[in-house]
Amino acid sequence: MDFALTDENVEWRTKARAFADEAVRPVAAELDAQLDPQDAWSWELVEEMDARGLRQAPLPVEFKGASTDYVTNTIILEEIAAADLGTAVVLAQHWKFAQILNEVGTPSQRERFLGRNAANPRGLFAASFTEPNAGSDNLLPYRAPGGGMQTFGRRVDGGYVVNGMKHYISNANRADTILCFARTDAEGPLTDSVTSFIVPADAEGLRIGKVHDKSGERVANNAEIFYEDVFVPDEDVLGEPGTALRSVARLLRASNAYAASCALGIARECFDRSLDWCRNRVQGGKPIIEHQAVGSYLATMYTNVEVSRTLIWRAACQARTAETFAPYMAIMPKLVVSEYTFDSARRAMELWGGAGVMKENGIEKLLRDASIWLHSDGTNIIMRERLANLLRDAEPGAPMWDGVPTTRRMVGII
Ligand SMILES: Cc1cc2nc3c(=O)[nH]c(=O)nc-3n(C[C@H](O)[C@H](O)[C@H](O)COP(=O)(O)OP(=O)(O)OC[C@H]3O[C@@H](n4cnc5c(N)ncnc54)[C@H](O)[C@@H]3O)c2cc1C
Repeated sequence: MDFALTDENVEWRTKARAFADEAVRPVAAELDAQLDPQDAWSWELVEEMDARGLRQAPLPVEFKGASTDYVTNTIILEEIAAADLGTAVVLAQHWKFAQILNEVGTPSQRERFLGRNAANPRGLFAASFTEPNAGSDNLLPYRAPGGGMQTFGRRVDGGYVVNGMKHYISNANRADTILCFARTDAEGPLTDSVTSFIVPADAEGLRIGKVHDKSGERVANNAEIFYEDVFVPDEDVLGEPGTALRSVARLLRASNAYAASCALGIARECFDRSLDWCRNRVQGGKPIIEHQAVGSYLATMYTNVEVSRTLIWRAACQARTAETFAPYMAIMPKLVVSEYTFDSARRAMELWGGAGVMKENGIEKLLRDASIWLHSDGTNIIMRERLANLLRDAEPGAPMWDGVPTTRRMVGII
């Protein structure tokens, strides 16, 4: 086991840090402060990510990428999230669904959708699972009458007609291509009834609704999507009909680590900003870092970052292949890192005293951003329930620590 960074890791960390420092930090606070969530969006940042090779980094060279590995991708996201969470999330969401399309798309789908997206410096992906009455019920997935998504793809000659409504969808109003997850079997269990459709954002019948006004992660947009008689031809079904939830769990192996990396960037920024503050703020006749209680807070915040990063890198290493991937790694990183990050943000607020709540200092933004991860990509209660399902499923007496535990249940959807 070797945690030393490779040349590739370091090269991309340098690129991502330069983007974060030169392009994101100078504008993040101003964008975050916009009252209308649509004004918090910046196409300039997306174009800059494209110009610096970040937008397409994990994709192959034919799609303007560099085939960066999962560990490198988590390093890039941490760097950007330290400057602004929303910018990192725009990229993470785009990557995860571009990567799925690259892995399982047909040659024609890859050429049409990834090719078009790669050629557009503003090209982004989004994916829509969540509905007003189906959030956690999609993720467990929970079997109850009316439980889970209700958006439906009706079979017609040559394809499907999709009807339904999604909300909270990251990049929804900005993406050029949207994955729509919809039932294609009204009766069966959710895990065997959902099909994934690739829908161009300008498809007839696709309509963007309200752009949500969030407390944190404001530089990323989330919006409602209405699918009103959207015709999707058979050639734009991604993977086998009815298997979307199962294959997404296997294909989005790094999704949870990406989410955790975005949270980690916030924890790191909380620590860096607070270390500096505590060295300079004088109370009790000395810099406050010299007070034992303050030092102990900083020690905890430093540990939060290191423990989080170690878990994320391990998850990213395991994500390299479906065989090496442990299902709990689709759950644990976001669960653990989001709670450490929220703890770090709370401690930062306390260490900064009154200055912590003053918007000019940016610490309260870190707290708002940190709060996003307690529920985003699945609430932590649901993450724990999914872990508990793994434990419930384990054969009595089977080794829990050697090799990769398997499970009959769904894990790690988003
Ligand atoms: C910033 C942001 C970005 C997002 N991006 C996307 C996106 O790109 N695409 C997408 O499809 N979705 C997205 N979502 C939706 C996100 O996945 C859901 O918000 C999340 O899964 C929780 O669902 P919910 O909000 O409906 O909460 P609910 O499911 O209503 O949960 C409410 C509470 O009930 C608890 N609860 C629910 N069921 C159970 C149970 N069985 N047992 C115990 N407790 C339970 C939950 O833990 C929670 O505490 C995003 C959300 C946010 C906030």
